[in-house]
Amino acid sequence: MEEILNFIGGKFTPCSSGQSIDNLAPATGEVYSKIPRSDATDVDIAVAAAESAQPAWSALSRNERSAWLVRIAEALETRSEEIAVAESRDTGKPISLARAVDSTRSVNNFRFFAKMLGERQQETYAMSDATNHVVDKPIGVVGLITPWNLPLYLLSWKIAPALAMGNTVVAKPSELTPMTAHLLCEILADIGLPAGVVNVVHGYGGECGAAIVAHPKVGAISFTGGTATGRVVAASAAPMFKKLSLELGGKNATIILEDADLDLAVAGAARAAFMNQGQVCLCGSRIFIADSIRPEFTRRFVEQVEKMVVGDPSFEDTEFGSLVSHEHRDKVESYIELALREGGTILSGGARPELSARLDSGAFLLPTIIDGLAQDSRCASEEIFGPVVTLHGFSSDAEVIGFANSTEYGLAGSVWTTDLGRGRAMAESIDSGMVWVNCWLHRDLRVPFGGTKNSGVGREGGQRSLAFYSEAMNICILDD
Ligand code: NDP
Repeated sequence: MEEILNFIGGKFTPCSSGQSIDNLAPATGEVYSKIPRSDATDVDIAVAAAESAQPAWSALSRNERSAWLVRIAEALETRSEEIAVAESRDTGKPISLARAVDSTRSVNNFRFFAKMLGERQQETYAMSDATNHVVDKPIGVVGLITPWNLPLYLLSWKIAPALAMGNTVVAKPSELTPMTAHLLCEILADIGLPAGVVNVVHGYGGECGAAIVAHPKVGAISFTGGTATGRVVAASAAPMFKKLSLELGGKNATIILEDADLDLAVAGAARAAFMNQGQVCLCGSRIFIADSIRPEFTRRFVEQVEKMVVGDPSFEDTEFGSLVSHEHRDKVESYIELALREGGTILSGGARPELSARLDSGAFLLPTIIDGLAQDSRCASEEIFGPVVTLHGFSSDAEVIGFANSTEYGLAGSVWTTDLGRGRAMAESIDSGMVWVNCWLHRDLRVPFGGTKNSGVGREGGQRSLAFYSEAMNICILDD
């Protein structure tokens, strides 16, 4: 049984309460490690460590901080297979996905922000008699809170720009998936990152996460998680006027126009619906299909999904693994029951798969396709965050735009059409932060990332991340 410890001031330390939380591999139900159940006392110690490390860290030149990010990327890369295996075990996702997305992109995040820091231009604005110089100052100590679906990827997406801008960090990963944050800490210790620059405290959100958000010495919070938790975080941080970035839930529309290339659209919609067992905030969990092609699209979509290899996440050919926990599977199954009560028909899935005895206690659920629900039913408008997709028809562009915009969320979406002008126009009519045309999750790290409405506040990505993790100050100097 591996014991994970907090990483505070460059040292691995137990939490002050001495209590621990079991960490399960959701595909087998096996408890294989324990994490500290940290609370406000531990967060206080971590914030103090981050505070004392911050002046020296921010005094480094940009080139020196950028070089540290590259060193972290290089060290992560040498352990990337170990990281992929750990992420797959902790989350239940297929090892192939953990390699392609989690371990690879975590390395990329550090490299990307190292480069971006070098490219950041200092703004100057000349007046007739004076010059304005805009200076980026670090915020100080920033708090980073991340979910379980893309654990190290989302943590590195926050740590890299925060460090780049001269801040020090107190982070709390989801207690369901703590292992890769722990491996990152081992790497930071191995390469000798100055003590206190990155501190990781493990524990429950309501205890340890809430203490980070409420801490008066933490100047900014970047939070990725559910909308309900985001509200709690915002309510705690707002009275202290902390900088706040909230990346929250989604109920994203995949829109298939009648002129879509069906090979591309069927494969794209299936990937968008079920990648990571449907546990990606950007997943297209509502598919709107032009009435004229609905029967053919539906037939081909069901065929495509039923070809997916469901099973042991550690097997090379597995395309669809386990959900992150049994509690989460219960929630997803309750939505499937609700869909039936709301008048839906299950076209595929809706049940637990039969797998080998080793996986008997795993949190598996088949990819599930539901037809026949009203687009404003609860199942088709609330975030399920699991392997459930609903299919709906539409008869005009205006109608489908109305459907796409009808939920409380505004995170992402995709439009599938061979008429790129129409696709672009439709994308602009969708009230969300990101829309892809004829692709999905095609990521360029320079572009804004975030949502509108109840999907969040603020944007991260590229220069926007660097702006979030800094305070812009203007110095106006009167000419001689
Ligand atoms: P949660 O909101 O439950 O948790 C997110 C993180 O916040 C966890 O580390 C959690 O800890 C912590 N937390 C919980 N309560 C508090 C609190 N009161 N104060 C501070 N921190 C707290 O989300 P999930 O982990 O279940 O992740 C799934 C959600 O994340 C989905 O809604 C999904 O859409 C969203 N998401 C959004 C993304 C985006 O970019 N927009 C990307 C990925 C996911 P603990 O685990 O202990 O509860």
